[in-house]
Amino acid sequence: MSKKPSLSHELTEQLRVREGFDLASFDRGARPGLKGGSSAAEDLLVEQGGILDELQEKLYAHGRSGGTRSVLLVLQGLDTAGKGGIVRHVVGLVDPQGVSIRSFGVPTEEERAHDFLWRIRRALPQPGRIGVFDRSHYEDVLVARVDELVPPDVWESRYDLINDFEAELVAAGTVVVKVALMVSYEEQGERLAERLERPDKHWKYNPGDIDTRLRWDDYQEAYQAVFDRTSTPHAPWHVIPADDKRYARLAVSQLLVEALESLDLDWPQADFDVAAEKERLEATRR
Ligand code: ATP
Repeated sequence: MSKKPSLSHELTEQLRVREGFDLASFDRGARPGLKGGSSAAEDLLVEQGGILDELQEKLYAHGRSGGTRSVLLVLQGLDTAGKGGIVRHVVGLVDPQGVSIRSFGVPTEEERAHDFLWRIRRALPQPGRIGVFDRSHYEDVLVARVDELVPPDVWESRYDLINDFEAELVAAGTVVVKVALMVSYEEQGERLAERLERPDKHWKYNPGDIDTRLRWDDYQEAYQAVFDRTSTPHAPWHVIPADDKRYARLAVSQLLVEALESLDLDWPQADFDVAAEKERLEATRR
């Protein structure tokens, strides 16, 4: 048997939320589908960079030629889960021209004056692009529920609204990749301690992170509800064990590769006469 590190074809299957998924017993330190350890994940991510880059370029080319397809990567996770690392190390593997990244923080006054999906709709990727949401409309059933920012009947009604919205997106040609990065309570504690310990990480620390950590159990419950109620056949959730950052990055890159492959795009046909253009170029020879 070969010892070469590899990634199982079933990796993304294994990460997909199915009926009966139980977040409480989910092992956040596991590396499902990976043959090899953390450094194997890093090596495999480098290999995948080339694949991802070519697939993304095809999507971009398709968009430039009038194609309507796009990909939306929705990133969720509690503080320190590694969302920023995914943007930097995975999304960073492709041409930034083809990517649009949006972070969603506390809604502005203008955003609050509209329904919760208003700011989301405005940030959707153009055809040919990969859109990345660093936090998303799911905050409106996570922090909004845990912190009681709106009455229960309001957040209750949002799960169905989200499902309808995503069905609409998919019907319009967007592949929706929903990723929840799940760290353990212990790992989050260590990452927060490191942010406090190291002056070069202080900028990442926010005293509010401790308040959120104090509501850990409520957030787990709110995430469980998200998975139970919004993991649909057209836009399933993938829950990624994120205690090992390098594994999590590899897993998300594999999800993106599969999403792009599912579009089954070819290089667009030239809309000019290639032979004639070759002749014209030849005629310019000095
Ligand atoms: P992060 O914690 O994601 O690294 P950050 O610390 O830089 O980011 P911001 O991006 O400015 O902070 O905002 C993130 C915060 O905004 C989170 O605490 C999140 O819960 C909150 N937030 C996002 N969406 C909403 C929403 N719809 N309603 C209320 N709070 C929200």
